[in-house]
Amino acid sequence: MAVVANIDDTFTAAINGDRRMLARSISMIENRVDGTLRAMASLAPKRKKSAGSPRVVGITGPPGAGKSTFVNLMISEARARDQRVVVLAVDPSSPFTGGAILADRIRMEQHILDEGVFIRSLSSRGHLGGLSRAVGQVVDLIDAAGWDLVIVETVGVGQSELAVCEIADTAVVILTPESGDAVQAMKAGLLEIADIFVINKSDRAGADVLVRELELAVELDEAATWKAPVLKASAVKGDGVADVVKQIISHGDWCEGEGSFEWSERQGRGRVRTFLDLIGEDARFTAFQALNGERSELKRSLETGDSNPYRMAAEYKA
Ligand code: GDP
Repeated sequence: MAVVANIDDTFTAAINGDRRMLARSISMIENRVDGTLRAMASLAPKRKKSAGSPRVVGITGPPGAGKSTFVNLMISEARARDQRVVVLAVDPSSPFTGGAILADRIRMEQHILDEGVFIRSLSSRGHLGGLSRAVGQVVDLIDAAGWDLVIVETVGVGQSELAVCEIADTAVVILTPESGDAVQAMKAGLLEIADIFVINKSDRAGADVLVRELELAVELDEAATWKAPVLKASAVKGDGVADVVKQIISHGDWCEGEGSFEWSERQGRGRVRTFLDLIGEDARFTAFQALNGERSELKRSLETGDSNPYRMAAEYKA
């Protein structure tokens, strides 16, 4: 019989710096191993009260915008400052660890043997959803394990990416001149979540127009206490990267100082969402198990179309 690792021991080893156990703990979180909630509840994350260590930076933007090129440079920069870095590459659209993530891995290969770097991809495996819940838990675990910087890279600009960005202290949105106009970005709700805009591939035409459109949009948001800077970069050439890193650091400092109220509010919203995610996910998980167990008849009749999912859901909940 396989030996089932004790979740508390696994978490403790991860917190004490065992990378293999960190990887295993993350899988346990992803797979909702029994006892995860209790083990999570006994962690003592430092970020609960104030921003600081680790800094959590979210990087989002459309596919091909240059996110992984950027993340790679950010890792090098953080390592040069002797910071220990975790990268979580999140792909909500992929049920598996897909090609995009593989490409990321290859691009980040130079860091793979570095003990001060831990790279891990998370995908919306299976039908259980709850990706932002999993990311939040992993961040809390990494926090307790005392890393300096967590970079959460997400693909795309949908709802789950926005939720993931809320977990971050600093949300960086990377766009390119060809990724469409500022209006598109605003529609996707990026303006509300972006702390820093990066117009990457600014070696290409159209960058200045996009910069001006976004700057104007940021200016118009009078309520914002932090005005998101709009920075031009060309990640392949390394141009503008230092500036972005500088802004990420100053935004992090702002979260710890002048912006601590805004930071707490965002974190507070995140905790409420985590709570709701956990409750909702639990109900979903129970139903999922039932469909694969004692309610397999119901599953079959849904599959064949003999049952109507709306009626069945209403009955199931009643
Ligand atoms: P991601 O999908 O957002 O992670 O984007 P990648 O980092 O994989 O970059 C997508 C492609 O754009 C790669 O071929 C990069 O070499 C290229 N790329 C990244 N940054 C720049 C840039 O500043 N200028 C140009 N011209 N190409 C870039």
